Amino acid sequence: MTRITVAKGDGIGPEIMDATLSIMRAAGAAIEIDEIDVGEQVYLAGNMSGISSESWEVIRRNKVFLKAPITTPQGGGYKSLNVTIRKMLGLYANVRPCMSLHPFVDTKHPGMDVVIVRENEEDLYAGIEHQQSDEVVQCLKLISRPGCEKIVHYAFTYARQYGRQKITCFTKDNIMKQTDGLFHRVFDEIAPTYPELQHEHWIVDIGAAKLADTPEAFDVIVMPNLYGDVLSDVAAQIAGSVGLAGSANIGEECAMFEAIHGSAPRRAGQNLANPSGLLQGAIMLLNHIGQSDVAERIQNAWLKTIEDGIHTYDIYKEGVSQQKVGTREFAEAVIARLGQQPETLKPVTYANTTALQLPTYRRKPAAKKDLLGVDVFVQWPGHDPNELATLVGQLATPDLPLSMITNRGIKVWPNGFKETFCTDHWRCRFLPTGGQPIAKQQIISVLTNAMASGVDTIKTENLYAFDGKPAFSMGQGQ
Ligand code: NAD
Repeated sequence: MTRITVAKGDGIGPEIMDATLSIMRAAGAAIEIDEIDVGEQVYLAGNMSGISSESWEVIRRNKVFLKAPITTPQGGGYKSLNVTIRKMLGLYANVRPCMSLHPFVDTKHPGMDVVIVRENEEDLYAGIEHQQSDEVVQCLKLISRPGCEKIVHYAFTYARQYGRQKITCFTKDNIMKQTDGLFHRVFDEIAPTYPELQHEHWIVDIGAAKLADTPEAFDVIVMPNLYGDVLSDVAAQIAGSVGLAGSANIGEECAMFEAIHGSAPRRAGQNLANPSGLLQGAIMLLNHIGQSDVAERIQNAWLKTIEDGIHTYDIYKEGVSQQKVGTREFAEAVIARLGQQPETLKPVTYANTTALQLPTYRRKPAAKKDLLGVDVFVQWPGHDPNELATLVGQLATPDLPLSMITNRGIKVWPNGFKETFCTDHWRCRFLPTGGQPIAKQQIISVLTNAMASGVDTIKTENLYAFDGKPAFSMGQGQ
């Protein structure tokens, strides 16, 4: 018997949760339930995060959480509960299977069967944003080696456990050589440790185009947070319906399972909603807690129900569907088919699927780190980079000369183009030509000079070499 936490959520949440739990019980799931309240009522009672500290305790104690969609009230600065739960519990992997149910649910891609594995904590979602000048704001994109290793191992281990053949990695490392470059490099390092699985890398733009056009070409796709956020919705939609997909959010300690759709308030309380998305989440939960036999029985009964044309309004189609049913009747139809297998759709077998066992991250010995120079970002209202070069050139010290100025990453000094559009946000790079290390004190000297001459410094970024290799981007056009 496994104790799980359940939240019935808002809108259609309670109906689809009741339907899902009734199917789980009928299939013999050995679960006990602790129910907690999260969402709209908790927000409106004045809790800005939508969850109470007592509920946190229950979630952390049980470690496995089945969550129905919730409504985040508009305005008023309420924090998204989903993002809070993922981050607080370190749920680093978001797993979303997107499978076509052709010919029973409309799709342009009958052969599609893709699992998107999305990194869930890092990237531009760290939420570190600043306004730096009148004209420029920034969002920090953070990618860590442990973050990359964990998600890449997860994708390969998942593929191995679920009998998948190929892992594809999407990044944009032709442009973001440090951040996406690290993700790609870690993928290439780890892939050979799973020799039975094929692996490949695509640049995300053409990869996304290929996914939208020919999803049959992919099996498991692993990617950083932002691309995964966008493309997992694209994949679910082109598979047939966002209403049919579930997702798992997996951490080292805890895991949360849900439907990918929202609380559909306009459909609430009318016995209309399709419980399939949440049921798919529940099936992943059962696999996670080692009740694969129950998961398999439910999934095959669900496929048979879809195949028999028992459809809720959102997927109902004249000529294909046999019977339009409500939420409860759909659940009863699945229950009636427990023990049956689909005939046209492929039945599933989940052998020994349990929570994936991943290698623990081991920190590598620290590299030799040399400070080579500094980027000093300044706000300056002028337009002529040569003028700025004269001004900030005076901040340089004999050991730390001004080597370059960029504006939004494009080199504008020396030898810039007058056509390059410039904002009020400039990066002034102080870097000796010889590549010899400098002392931090030299940076302080440059900043002290800047203060004395009234140059408005916004921030600095140290320029390092790790094990002798410079680890910072060049200016565009440099
Ligand atoms: P939504 O997913 O709730 O609805 C989009 C459309 O899909 C609607 O037409 C809806 O009727 C339909 N739909 C969704 N799920 C369905 C189902 N199971 N059966 C049949 N039809 C279904 O998205 P939205 O309208 O943009 O958002 C509504 C609320 O949900 C918002 O408050 C939003 O913040 C919240 N939301 C929550 C989650 C979550 O908790 N995981 C995710 C997304 C949105």
